Amino acid sequence: MAEPTVCSFLTKVLCANGGRMLLQDLRGHVELSEARLRDVLRQAGPERFLLQEVQETEGPRAEAQAQAQAQAERAPGGAGGAGGAGGAGGGGPRAWRVVAVSSARLCARYQRGDCQACDQLHLCRRHMLGKCPNRDCWSTCTLSHDIHTPVNMQVLKNHGLFGLNEAQLRILLLQNDPCLLPEVCLLYNKGEALYGYCNLKDKCNKFHVCKSFVRGECRLPKCKRSHQLTHASALTLLQDQGLNIPSVINFQIISTYKHMKLHKMLENQGERVGTWVAQSFKCLPLAWVMIPGSWDQDPHQGSLLSGKLESPSLDLCSSPCLCSFYVK
Ligand SMILES: [Zn+2]
Ligand SMILES: [Zn+2]
Ligand SMILES: [Zn+2]
Ligand SMILES: [Zn+2]
Repeated sequence: MAEPTVCSFLTKVLCANGGRMLLQDLRGHVELSEARLRDVLRQAGPERFLLQEVQETEGPRAEAQAQAQAQAERAPGGAGGAGGAGGAGGGGPRAWRVVAVSSARLCARYQRGDCQACDQLHLCRRHMLGKCPNRDCWSTCTLSHDIHTPVNMQVLKNHGLFGLNEAQLRILLLQNDPCLLPEVCLLYNKGEALYGYCNLKDKCNKFHVCKSFVRGECRLPKCKRSHQLTHASALTLLQDQGLNIPSVINFQIISTYKHMKLHKMLENQGERVGTWVAQSFKCLPLAWVMIPGSWDQDPHQGSLLSGKLESPSLDLCSSPCLCSFYVK
């Protein structure tokens, strides 16, 4: 089998088994040695498969332990979850777990009837949640319930997803696409207080989680907003809305990994940019040069840093250094 075909098949097997498996169990479905299978997964990368070393779990204990592990990993700024180094402490036997990852998403504009074709899936969101009121007579729903339309087939192909059936695609999306989570409370995400501006607090029927975290975009190593998708009150909300809890746990595992990776990337970038600033902004008073790690954007990308430099007159710099070139 060609590699993309193998990857599609592995995604299919994973999603037929809840979206996450131990490597040894996954191996039972493919004719590859363990080393070769690990190779394929590594080559495909964490955009397709999250491969993490964890404490071995078996039987009915597996779910509880996975949940405990997800909780251990999701502490804001916490360690663990690296592609290759999971967060389980303890000295029990180790195993590799594989989680199916995908960048395929439902098209948000299509849900509003605003999109004819794009690179995202044109499927009814409520149907994918198993909650479309038109499910018994789907021809009356204005949105597609069919994953095999030409548009959707093309999107699946572009994402290297062949041969998944609807149930398998649903599992894949539930653990990757934030639009299938309950609606995030925007008031909770504003302000300094514990519940932000949300006066309903624990009674709110929207999701009290960091909206950037669920999109894989939270840049804060120690975020004030919750990065815990399955803490007590969130769990009640998820259950009330009929969400598949194992899928949310998988979503947590993937998001925690992405957050950790983004944080590491920003840290490295901060160090690099800090050095670059020290060398390139020699003309500026020292007060203007900010602490490495606090940059919002790499100046090499062309625009500078929101509010990270003290002086509003930076663009008046006329020295021979390049800084004015980067200031907008
Ligand atoms: Zn679209
Ligand atoms: Zn529908
Ligand atoms: Zn709220
Ligand atoms: Zn956050």
